[in-house]
Amino acid sequence: MAVDFVPLGSPGCGKGTASKLIAATRGIPHISTGDMLRALDRDSDLGRRVFALIDDGDFVTDELAAEMVADRLSEPDAQAGVVLDGFPRTLAQLPIYDELCARLGRTPVFVELVVPEAVTIERLHHRALTEGRADDTPEVILKRLGVYKELTLPMVVALREAKRLHQIDARVAPEAVAAAMLAIGPADLTPGL
Ligand code: ADP
Repeated sequence: MAVDFVPLGSPGCGKGTASKLIAATRGIPHISTGDMLRALDRDSDLGRRVFALIDDGDFVTDELAAEMVADRLSEPDAQAGVVLDGFPRTLAQLPIYDELCARLGRTPVFVELVVPEAVTIERLHHRALTEGRADDTPEVILKRLGVYKELTLPMVVALREAKRLHQIDARVAPEAVAAAMLAIGPADLTPGL
């Protein structure tokens, strides 16, 4: 049975960095929906539609995200588990993912990387200077934080209320965040967390 690490948290919480470390440590793929979308050809039909959304900080449709992930999880290298970074991301994507897990025999471990908002904003501005992502301008960063609160936070709250969520303090170094995530197993979820 495949166990998937599913990091959650606001933009800038460090889930991309922690995901890469976990994937490298465990020898499993890091599946980032953001990276998959950014890898599309900007000049293709789909690319034009996708970049018009993500460059402005808006989400792509739940259907597109779900289809991309379903295809990727069906590949041979995903069968021993993956780090799934960026999906599910809305209340509507959660049951789609649950159904996918049931169908493909996968067990998700949802982990929220908890960081104060001031820290995430600082990290995003730093990334803007070093990586030059089109969605890391000051206006789009604010927009993405708003979209996170509006569309993703309700899903995180639902997972917490269903006692399906692990939470870790992610103010520490990426290696420590990854180590805290790796210490969690699917059986570790304690009621009341
Ligand atoms: P962040 O670092 O802000 O978490 P990502 O690299 O994970 O950003 O994703 C970048 C963008 O890709 C998002 O702002 C969104 O537009 C799009 N995206 C990624 N995953 C999804 C998803 N599951 N559903 C809808 N849109 C998504």
